[in-house]
Amino acid sequence: MPEAAARPVSLTLPQTVGQEMVELMRELFPLCRSLTGNGVRETLKILDDVLPLEVTEVPSGTPIFDWTVPREWNISDAWIADAEGRRIVDFRESNLHVLGYSRPVRAVLTGAELQEHLHSVPDHPDWIPVRTAYWADTWGFCVADAQRQAIEPDARYEVCIDSRLEDGHLTYAEALLPGASKDEVLLSTYICHPSLCNDNLSGIAVLAFAGKHLSGLDLRYSYRFLFSPSTVGPLTWLSRNLDRLDRVRHGLAVSCVGDAGVVRYKRSRRGTAEIDRAAEHVLRSSRPDAIVDEFVPWGSDERQFCSPGFDLPFGALTRTPHGLYPEYHSSADDFEIVRAESLADSLSVLLEILTVLERNDVCVNRSPCGEPQLGRRGLYREISAGVPRGEEAFQRAILWVLNLSDGDCSLLDIADRAGIPFGVVADAADALRRVNLIERTVE
Ligand code: ZN
Repeated sequence: MPEAAARPVSLTLPQTVGQEMVELMRELFPLCRSLTGNGVRETLKILDDVLPLEVTEVPSGTPIFDWTVPREWNISDAWIADAEGRRIVDFRESNLHVLGYSRPVRAVLTGAELQEHLHSVPDHPDWIPVRTAYWADTWGFCVADAQRQAIEPDARYEVCIDSRLEDGHLTYAEALLPGASKDEVLLSTYICHPSLCNDNLSGIAVLAFAGKHLSGLDLRYSYRFLFSPSTVGPLTWLSRNLDRLDRVRHGLAVSCVGDAGVVRYKRSRRGTAEIDRAAEHVLRSSRPDAIVDEFVPWGSDERQFCSPGFDLPFGALTRTPHGLYPEYHSSADDFEIVRAESLADSLSVLLEILTVLERNDVCVNRSPCGEPQLGRRGLYREISAGVPRGEEAFQRAILWVLNLSDGDCSLLDIADRAGIPFGVVADAADALRRVNLIERTVE
């Protein structure tokens, strides 16, 4: 059987990796993240222990394409108190209670006036919805509908939002793992959601652990991990890296990867980029239930990287994506819906996709006139009944690689056409390269 491949990304993950990701999420969960502010900085500080990060601070007011870096938002407390001074809604119990980016307020209102500033979801009366007002000058509270119904229209309530909305910075961080090539694989997730699990923390945990896993490996590509606030974060990064975007050979936005749903891949705008084909191959060959979606110009941060001015080969890896699970953007997106085994499986899928990118060579057959004699090179086993299936696939892969290595077809092309898992085809190519029957077109 073939020796170890030339460019493997080791897929051996510790059995505890799912649980380790849950523990990281538990550490990050209480922080009040937003588009900007100290919750983001504290999040990055914790992540730095898993994957060393380089933090960038961009001043408020900086123009970013059609946007502007907003003012920085920080909050220390917020509450609604009844006439007796009892806190009936308390930021200290859940940071979801405050409309994100609320301006500071201290006022006494009637219940009827207060209603104008409340958000709830009547269909799920116990859930606190998550709402933000990044680009509006307003304030509000998000409450369980049951709490809202208890507000008496004529009673008086005192409200306090002890927030600061002032010139500061937008914070993002990246980690670069250098490989043999300066060409990069860019992996991105957002860091702007407060205490939410699947939508946000799962993506952060999987990317941080992917980086930890890849650190120190002998890599073909350089890997850049980007942790930034949604939308304006990737746009800020793009605006500061315009002169080097041609290095981004492959990209993936990773989010919502901790729930029990099946793995899902959304194609890039290009639709047939290598990342699209690698992801689809991995999903089709190892996870038959997985879903592959066509590109649409909405969703997560992939839509910025895939906007026409960049058109980067950027797909999105999720389990159940944004908006397609009922707990989305509510207090019910908690540890109940996230599973250690789903996180571990998502990490594994991600690494399998990266492995395809790492090993996807184009080769040339150095003995193309007729089949070369494989027996004297130790590569021939008769395909017949009784040969283990793995070995049979390997033998067929040898013949496919020899036949299609014309300097044009990649190993992924060959795997797709042959209907053989990529890893088997790449192992066959390694074996053929060792006996000098094929060579890479680019070393
Ligand atoms: Zn979200």
